[in-house]
Amino acid sequence: MKIKSPHVVRPNAKVKLSRFSTDETGGFKSQQDAEPVLAKHRKTLIDMQDVFYASQKKTLLIVLQGMDTAGKDGTISHISSGVNPQGCTVTSFKVPTPLEARHDFLWRAHAAVPPRGMVGIFNRSHYEDILVPYVHKLSSKKTIRQHIADILEFESMLADNDVVILKFFLHISHEEQTRRLQSRIDDPDKHWKLSESDFRERKFWDDYTDAYELLLPATSRPHAPWFVIPSDHKGYRNVAISSILVDVMKSLNLKYPKPTMDPTKIQL
Ligand code: AMP
Ligand code: MG
Repeated sequence: MKIKSPHVVRPNAKVKLSRFSTDETGGFKSQQDAEPVLAKHRKTLIDMQDVFYASQKKTLLIVLQGMDTAGKDGTISHISSGVNPQGCTVTSFKVPTPLEARHDFLWRAHAAVPPRGMVGIFNRSHYEDILVPYVHKLSSKKTIRQHIADILEFESMLADNDVVILKFFLHISHEEQTRRLQSRIDDPDKHWKLSESDFRERKFWDDYTDAYELLLPATSRPHAPWFVIPSDHKGYRNVAISSILVDVMKSLNLKYPKPTMDPTKIQL
């Protein structure tokens, strides 16, 4: 998979997130300003998803990671708006249930990868199973290394089985997180989004940054690249992601399957 994007992470590159922009606007003055471009991408994606679903040749797996409030939910509504819901699954990865915790590493992630023809969106992902133990020092360095190796093998196996994997790290600044949390506090309609874990985990911002700086280059590969998407501005974030999706979908060059019967011979 060859993708031209200024946001792609080179395999094993040295990543310092502070050197990656969070506030790129792409020239859009507001989220509304980006809407015409986004609408064009959306139309293309809807058309291409129809072929994707019909052909049943590939799975598209979209992994979304980011700090709390980075915009994973908003990105999902933008990516999936208009697409055929029958061709799409969204899986949100929460704190593992007792059953999930008893299973092997990657069990719940593998079970959530949809079959060929489908687009699967991971709202958080198997990466959470390394991030949280890394930040809270629940795993040894050896286990973290092993789990990184397991993820590399897992994603390579998926790619060998026609799964196209795209991983997006939604990159916001600490100040932007402050603004977003404050607006959740100020707006009664957003109170339901407030969770204690957001405020607890925010104190570990630097540790999460360290963890991502380790994980992104260690697991970005041509068949499963990571993109660091500047996400302070939602308009730019949406356009940056949708343009990568359009490029990748086009590059797959999928066709509608041949009909199983000759339509010219059908008499009603
Ligand atoms: P949210 O995405 O805001 O609904 O929050 C989900 C919460 O589940 C976040 O605080 C995640 O860090 C947490 N979470 C997800 N996966 C794991 C995991 N494997 N281990 C521990 N916590 C997790
Ligand atoms: Mg949250």
